[in-house]
Amino acid sequence: TKAVTKPVKLTQNFTTKSGIPITIGTGTGTKWQWLKKGRPEDQKDTLVTELVDQLLLALQNGYNHIDTAEVYTTHPEVAEAVKKSGIPREDLFITTKYSPGFRTFQALSKGPTDFIDTALKELQTDYVDLFLIHSPFFDEAVSRGQTLESSWAEVIEAKKAGKVREIGVSNYAKPHLEKIFKVAGSTEFYPKVNQIEFHPYLQNQSKDIVKFAQENDILIEAYGPLTPLFRIKKDGKDVEDHPLKPLLQELSEKYGKTDAQILLRYTLQKGILPITTSTKVERIKQSLEVYEFEITAEDVAKIDEVGASYPFRQFFDQEYKNL
Ligand code: NDP
Repeated sequence: TKAVTKPVKLTQNFTTKSGIPITIGTGTGTKWQWLKKGRPEDQKDTLVTELVDQLLLALQNGYNHIDTAEVYTTHPEVAEAVKKSGIPREDLFITTKYSPGFRTFQALSKGPTDFIDTALKELQTDYVDLFLIHSPFFDEAVSRGQTLESSWAEVIEAKKAGKVREIGVSNYAKPHLEKIFKVAGSTEFYPKVNQIEFHPYLQNQSKDIVKFAQENDILIEAYGPLTPLFRIKKDGKDVEDHPLKPLLQELSEKYGKTDAQILLRYTLQKGILPITTSTKVERIKQSLEVYEFEITAEDVAKIDEVGASYPFRQFFDQEYKNL
């Protein structure tokens, strides 16, 4: 793992089971061929070698934190990359997520209890470091009888059984969190993470979520932290000119870092832990260099201000209309 010369203040400072502080995460979830549909029966034993190789590169270059999920169907590739890396399991931090189904996609498992047992087998491990519920959008039509409340009770059971070290959620807004706080009873079983879409163009996925989470000792993890670099669309068309472009270029020159490095460091300085990914070894390495430089509070504020002038949401656009 790389030296951390410019530490950041996070709400939770997770370590691997062996006590190593975790790095930013490397994701396995975008551009996925079987996304949401599950892995076809005849493909259960066929590994996607590009993903194994990409993860291996990340592990060899110092990442110790991998993000996967039921709907990504990437557990077998994670298991293979971990095995190939030769890194002891207890020196790694692996997150997976149970999915309650989404829109017209049926939940793949009966619930978190059922899912975690399958996940441990597929990951070839006897625990995961962090277990998340993928989204709060439970629905009678797709969630197989699970609700926000029942699923959180099962997640707590998985923790008590020692199958998972930490528990949390993803894409939860304040009202969802308040409901599961009630199920938890004591703060011991509150979620410790809320993984949400976060970048300068979406500084709160739902109303006041970052502040509310951080005040309740919940670590915000950012997915899509590099969205402004390549995903901006308006009316279905790619937008080349948007207001962060010139600012990122200016800051890139000022700090001698890439625009991606500036965005990842900005995220960390907001107290948020980025989950990012790349197929390219140079970018994999560059992303981890975020621990080696710092941007000024004035520049963080500038990114905030310019970002806020141009709202853009990539994920769950319909669901967040009233949140
Ligand atoms: P990012 O915003 O970090 O985007 C990653 C993409 O950015 C890669 O495809 C990469 O392409 C590209 N990229 C990397 N560096 C640069 C650069 N310098 N310039 C331009 N493009 C660059 O994260 P993702 O949105 O991919 O999400 C990361 C992970 O978060 C997922 O894999 C998944 O694990 C998780 N996630 C969770 C969700 C949830 O609901 N909980 C939803 C979405 C994601 P290249 O390979 O060409 O470098």
